[in-house]
Amino acid sequence: MPIVKAEDLEELTGRIFAARGVPREDAAWIATLLVRANLRGHDSHGVIRIAQYVTSMEKGTTKPTPTIRVLNETPTTAVIDGDQGFGQVVARRGMELAIEKARAQGLAAVALANTNHVGRLADYVELAARQGMIGLMWVNAPLALGVAPWGGAARRLATNPHAVGVPGRSGAAMLLDFATSVVAEGKLRVKFNRKEQAPPGWMLDGEGHPSTDPPKYYAEPRGSLLPMGEHKGYGLALAVEVLAGILSGTGAASAKVGPVRNGTLMVVIDVRRFLPLEAFSRQVEDLFTWVKSAPLVENSKGILIPGEPEARTEADRRANGVYIEDETWAQIQAAEKGSTRPSPFQG
Ligand code: NAD
Repeated sequence: MPIVKAEDLEELTGRIFAARGVPREDAAWIATLLVRANLRGHDSHGVIRIAQYVTSMEKGTTKPTPTIRVLNETPTTAVIDGDQGFGQVVARRGMELAIEKARAQGLAAVALANTNHVGRLADYVELAARQGMIGLMWVNAPLALGVAPWGGAARRLATNPHAVGVPGRSGAAMLLDFATSVVAEGKLRVKFNRKEQAPPGWMLDGEGHPSTDPPKYYAEPRGSLLPMGEHKGYGLALAVEVLAGILSGTGAASAKVGPVRNGTLMVVIDVRRFLPLEAFSRQVEDLFTWVKSAPLVENSKGILIPGEPEARTEADRRANGVYIEDETWAQIQAAEKGSTRPSPFQG
């Protein structure tokens, strides 16, 4: 069970993709985001994805050198065709374009089609927050479903995450980023690779019965994740299908099955068009101080602002290294040697 330093893990990850024809700068960016997910405590979106991405490249569903094109552009909107490139590369381009348009116009919406798994949404809305802008982002995956609708017992939706990045005085003041299922599917992958049980309330087995056994999610008949917050997470997931799937041209969830294609919508709002950044930051800080002043319930670990748990984990893991389960490490070593280890995960 290796514990690896972040710099070493980034170097190794970048090398694996560069060796497969991904341009060096893109490979380094993909590596930065994967390792950042581990550092921020979301191992579900970290180096566990190397095997998925390598398999996807081998199948030809991820192109190392895509021709990314901007379609249907106006001063405030754009649709980008990612040409089946790495999601990390296409989504960075999309967010940079949205920030540029929002700086010029105050508000921008950029949609991405033909794009592979973008990973953690927080990293992109943080790019906007670092520029004094609010970043919003939604993502669907219409060919790779895993979530039951509220009241249903089989997969009809993807985990359809939702993210909001709020600017602060230095960096982001808040990074809210969650799947609209109880947890991201990758959290089941981590449990699967660690041979651990899932907590009750995460999933149903293939017969629609509550289960805590991750292999039952991946085996036929396939199990499903439950929506977070009952009907509310389900409703939000449906909204994400419309915003990220239909609007981007990627499409909404249906009976079609295929590789992970993240339909994506990014909205960026320039705070300075509404009020001075200083007044905005002061009010955000007052809000957080007020919320944190509530008395704590018994055994509470404290009141946190979204993004704070990840910042704490990052400080710890940067200092002490990233723990990687044996199965994931074996997959990474196989990828480094140019082979692949069979994986039950869809990619
Ligand atoms: P999660 O359930 O761990 O929720 C994370 C969010 O909750 C973060 O904003 C975090 O700061 C906040 N949070 C956690 N504890 C808190 C506390 N005590 N107080 C206040 N806020 C707190 O995350 P998840 O739903 O499992 O999603 C994990 C990641 O998976 C996300 O980064 C998401 O973008 C990613 N994801 C990606 C895809 C994709 O297809 N690309 C799909 C689904 C999820």
